[in-house]
Amino acid sequence: MTIGARDIRRVRQVRTLACLTLLAVVALLMAWLAGLWAPSGEARGPGSRNRDTDHPTVLLVNADHPLPDDFRTPKLVTLAGTVPASGSRVKVAAEVAEPLRSLFAAARKAGLTRLYVAIGYRTAAEQRALWKRAEDKSYVQRPGHSEHQTGWAVDLADLRVGDGEFGDSRAGRWLAGNAWRYGFILRYPPDKEELTGIAYEPWHYRYVGRPAARTCHDQGLVLEEYVRRA
Ligand SMILES: [Zn+2]
Repeated sequence: MTIGARDIRRVRQVRTLACLTLLAVVALLMAWLAGLWAPSGEARGPGSRNRDTDHPTVLLVNADHPLPDDFRTPKLVTLAGTVPASGSRVKVAAEVAEPLRSLFAAARKAGLTRLYVAIGYRTAAEQRALWKRAEDKSYVQRPGHSEHQTGWAVDLADLRVGDGEFGDSRAGRWLAGNAWRYGFILRYPPDKEELTGIAYEPWHYRYVGRPAARTCHDQGLVLEEYVRRA
């Protein structure tokens, strides 16, 4: 039996197909290694960066960015006896405790003696319960999507001021103008609702560290914009 021209063509076709398949596999593998393609879960890429590997506290957590699978709750500390809080069980991530103390010391100097931390760290179960209970979801994130689960966010309140008036109160204005000096940002400003997906929350402050907080403050950026900047 002799090998005809048709057989040779067929062998070549199979060889070409095998080469192309191999090339595609290698390309996918390289893209995956470069972090450009995730086999499952959250999409990654230049347009959807959500963390700064040099600064772990600069992590974007919102409706589109759940806490990453590899996220481990930071070491938590109770605020009791360090800064005023709504109860003895209010906790924050350990790295937030000192900046929060400095923020409160400065607030006291500015005459804000009734400021306190209403809410700090929230467990996944607590967030689930809150989400279930909330009739108005514009102020609440789904479980796994809340900054309160990181230990890096606090809701602040003033004994003299009602929730609805906090933004326009002396405390609210002072925090909006000064919290960045201690590494905190006003996370849900009134004019960025479309980006954050959350209604204006003058009481919710998020620790991101001083360099990021300064940039956000100076350039008027929310975290969604900050993590995606060039
Ligand atoms: Zn909050």
